[in-house]
This record gives sequence, structure tokens and C-alpha cells, in this order.
Amino acid sequence: MQSTKPVRRHRRRLAAVVTAASLMLAAPAGVAPAMASANFPSPNGQTNISSILTYTDVQKELQKLERTSRFNVDAFTLAEAGTSVNTSEQGRDLYVATVGTGPEDVWLQGRIHGNEPYGTESLLTLLKDLGSNGSPDYNLLREKYTFHIIPMYNPDGSEANIRQTILWDDLTGSPELGENGRELRIDLNRDWTEAGFAAKESLAFYEYWTMVKPDFGVDIHHQGLKQQWDTGDDVTLSLGISLAPGGPTLPGLADGTYDVLTRQMMVHVFDELSKYGSINIDRYQVGNGLEIDIKGGVVSAMMLGLDYQGLNPEGHSNPVVFLETSGNTSDGSLGQKARGKSVRQNVLALEELLIGMATGEIQQEDPERWDEIPHQPTTGYQTDYAGIVPVQ
Ligand SMILES: [Zn+2]
Repeated sequence: MQSTKPVRRHRRRLAAVVTAASLMLAAPAGVAPAMASANFPSPNGQTNISSILTYTDVQKELQKLERTSRFNVDAFTLAEAGTSVNTSEQGRDLYVATVGTGPEDVWLQGRIHGNEPYGTESLLTLLKDLGSNGSPDYNLLREKYTFHIIPMYNPDGSEANIRQTILWDDLTGSPELGENGRELRIDLNRDWTEAGFAAKESLAFYEYWTMVKPDFGVDIHHQGLKQQWDTGDDVTLSLGISLAPGGPTLPGLADGTYDVLTRQMMVHVFDELSKYGSINIDRYQVGNGLEIDIKGGVVSAMMLGLDYQGLNPEGHSNPVVFLETSGNTSDGSLGQKARGKSVRQNVLALEELLIGMATGEIQQEDPERWDEIPHQPTTGYQTDYAGIVPVQ
């Protein structure tokens, strides 16, 4: 009964794997590609990853925050939320935590790439603050927003310490194999497309997204070690918009409002975090002056208002930006020494972005100042639909 369908799915999935390998969100030129698993902690190598949070750690922390937070933190599985697909490929529950009572919904996700660990810790730290901080800023955040926090989008990849998820055969309890006899890995951040949704995680979180219909969001990633293109200084954080401002796609969405608001968000974060001497920020680029302009990433699909299988018939869409913390825990990289700093700069960036949105400061920023954030002169756009598109 199951014999024909998986073969067809394998072919499509193999194509998806190839596409994923040729397009990476996190590999500036002149730097070891961040996508390569070898550049990240390996479970077989010498790198100590004992301090990196596991899936069980996340479950425990969510339970603790639910129990101890002053303000109502609700941690639940997507099964409890009622999505029709609701586990990872290997059957792990997928977790969301909500906090706040406001009318606007905010989507915050981390660790869609399993070997990029600090999104998890950053979001759990923010959740703790949102659950317990009684300052006027945090009161405002809880009054204005309901936060949907996904600390570990990709639990299987996190447990395996790899970027992707592995497609899993429920009947045999082992990886599905491609025609070449190798296991099939899916980059979950290329899987929200009409031809995608190969992995259960994608279907599960997509359906939850259509239930929430967020107003805006942030996605947290890691990149390799990176130097500022003109000064050579180490970059600690890159600010990213996955459909390039002023590029082929973004100005045409939502009457151009996302093109403006996403830049305003990043300008605000740049200004606020540049006050800290330990943080050095630039713009996320894919190298050689190329801006990213991909449609298949989760945050791109959100901005495009993807309607997959009729689950988003009214075409809901929302602006989203992403953060790329530099460095990782592998040998030769920053190592765990940078863990505290990496988590802290993400939390600061999230706080400034959220408070700036809530107070309306961000909406007053000059979007043209996106050009002032350090970046190589733009020569073109690296797309997943038309190759490299030169600047007009
Ligand atoms: Zn990533």
C-alpha cells in the first residue's frame, strides 16, 4: 500500500535537497560556508557541545517557565494546538510557548537549522523576561502583543547536530532512503514552497502559522565567522531580510509596506545595538555584493502569503526579518566562550525590535538608512527562482 507513493516523494525530495545545497542562507564570501556541517560542532569530533541545549532541556525549561512565570506563559505542543500534522519526522512533539494578552500576534522562531543553537537559548531567555519582567516596557509588550515563541523548530536536526531534518519512515523506524541508498535530508528553511512541504515539521508549523496569522516575526540563525568587508573587523551580528529591500520581489508585496517596515526594523536594531562596544553589525549578504532574494524560505513564504493546499485562502502575509549571529561552537571557531555574548546580542536585538515596534519608534525610522548599515555595494540578487538577477 505504501510502496508507490514514497518513491515518487523521494524524487521530489531529492530535487529539494539539491536546491537546498546550492543556496545557503549563511555563507558570506571568503568565509567557511556556514551550511557545511563540518563547520559546526560534530558529535564525533573533539568539540565540546555539552552546554548546548538538548530537546529534553527545552521541554524542561518550558515546563519550568510555565510553572514559575509571574505572567501567564503557556507552553504546548502542536498536537495540543490542533494542527493535523504535529510532530517532527522522527515523532518528536513540536513546542510553542505563548505569553502576552495583546491583540497583535508576533511569531518568533529559532533553530530551524539544528546546528545553529543559540536561537533556542535566546528565545527561552526572552520568554523568561516576557513571563516575569514587570517593567513598563515589558508591560507594554504583553498588553500589545501575544507572542508565539518556537524555541526549537527543528528538534530532530538539533538532536543530531545537523542543519536539516532527516526524512523518517514511521513503519521501519529508520531514515527513508533515496535512490542512491542514502538518507534524505531536508532544509526546513527551503521547504515552504508549492513544491515543498516534504517534511512534517514544515506542514505542522505552516498550519499553525495559518491559525495564528501573525502581524510580524523574527527568525534567528547563525553564520560562520565573518569580517566587515571594508574594515576587516569581526562582525558579531548580521541583519537580514530574505527578500531584498528594493529588489525584484519585496517592493511588490503589500503595497510596498514590507519593503519599508523591514528596513525600519533593521535600522532601529542597528542604532540601538551599535551603542554596545562588543557588538559589531553589518547587513546579511550572500557574498560578492549579492543580496539574498529567495522565495522558498519560511520567512519569505510568510511575506509572500503562500497558500498551500488551500490552508491560507485569504492570502494572509506578514513581514519578517532574520538575525545571523556569527561564530559557532566548532573547533577553530569562537567556541563556547562566545555563547553568553551571542545569546545576549540576540536577546538585545529582539527586545529593541519588539519595544521599538510597540512604541512606534520603528515606524518613524528612515528606511533609507538601511543603506548606512555596513554592506558591500550591491551588484545583484541571488534568487531561488531566476539564478542571479543583476541590479537594474
Ligand atoms: Zn540558519
